[in-house]
Amino acid sequence: MNVPFLDLKAQYKSIYDEVNLAIQEVLDNTAYAGGPFVREFEKNYAKYCDCKFAIGVSSGTSAIWLTLLAMSIGPGDEVITVPNTFIATVEAISFTGAKPVFVDVDEKTYNMDPQKLESAITTKTKAVIPVHLYGQMADMDPIIEIARRHHLYVLEDSAQAQGAKYKGKKAGSLGDAGCFSFYPGKNLGAYGEAGAIVTNNRQIAERVKMLRDHGQPQKYCHDYIGWNSRMDGIQGAVLNVKLKYIDQWNKKRRDHATLYSRLLSGTDSIVLPFVPEPAEPIFHIYAIRMKNRDVMLESLKENQVHCGIHYPISIHLTKAYQFLNLPRGSFPVAEQIADEELSLPMFPELTIDQIQYVVNALRKVI
Ligand SMILES: *Cc1c(COP(=O)(O)O)cnc(C)c1O
Repeated sequence: MNVPFLDLKAQYKSIYDEVNLAIQEVLDNTAYAGGPFVREFEKNYAKYCDCKFAIGVSSGTSAIWLTLLAMSIGPGDEVITVPNTFIATVEAISFTGAKPVFVDVDEKTYNMDPQKLESAITTKTKAVIPVHLYGQMADMDPIIEIARRHHLYVLEDSAQAQGAKYKGKKAGSLGDAGCFSFYPGKNLGAYGEAGAIVTNNRQIAERVKMLRDHGQPQKYCHDYIGWNSRMDGIQGAVLNVKLKYIDQWNKKRRDHATLYSRLLSGTDSIVLPFVPEPAEPIFHIYAIRMKNRDVMLESLKENQVHCGIHYPISIHLTKAYQFLNLPRGSFPVAEQIADEELSLPMFPELTIDQIQYVVNALRKVI
């Protein structure tokens, strides 16, 4: 048996006719950049996220960047986030001219530790970006409470959390804005690059809408210096089809996670995912932790089981962010996760036999 980390072909097969037809419709209407298919998706996605507004953009990275710009964040400001994220979260902060500031994460949930947040706030802090890592939401109540007390914006990096919930509320709907990625490998994946912002704040929504389209409320009337970050029509059409299935796909991921955890329980050398009471995760990634992770990764590969690491280097230790002068030891929990985390194969179409095979391979190596 060969178990891939992700199998996008299996999903394409399951919606082949429907999605091909949707793409054909975009071609027939030559609605390539923005346009009616994107607007239709925005309407549906806002509703799905229980938010008033959704704005489709060209990627998750642009979604975060444009939202920070819409919050008037720029040079001289500080934005707080976590070091164990995909670099895009931090790049988006840097691209506004603001300085990224990190707080370490909780050792059980791997998400922002609210207890460490307050001491990172300075007079320059303007916003906090909790990342809903692996599809499990950060502990939003205390984060929002602290942010409100200090008059900070809260931007939820929901790139890995389409449909995840916290105390019954959807990812992206709790803070001032939520930013999503529809990169093909995400739970709701486009057939190219795409992203979105959701918010209940009309001012943020209107500014992001203008910023993604050269700062123009109407054609050739430029109120702001904007950028070109529109969503493609084809991506809007594909996402409209796939949005109908996201809940059932997420449920399958949850079922797979439950099975993994059941089959792996009692293995002393492996730390399994921890799901706290208020969270309903969607398992974008099923993350386990162990010593000698790199040996395990290689041995599993020899057994045709393909895993990932999310992420092998904490952002403050990357070459790109060396100028922040944050040496190893600055964020011990995030660093330990980077050293020990292993992402097992996870996608909705994964079979019970494949899960069993992965678990057997793991046990064999142990
Ligand atoms: C994927 C991802 C992004 C960036 O999204 P793109 O669509 O790839 O630009 C941002 N943050 C997190 C946590 C991600 O996983």
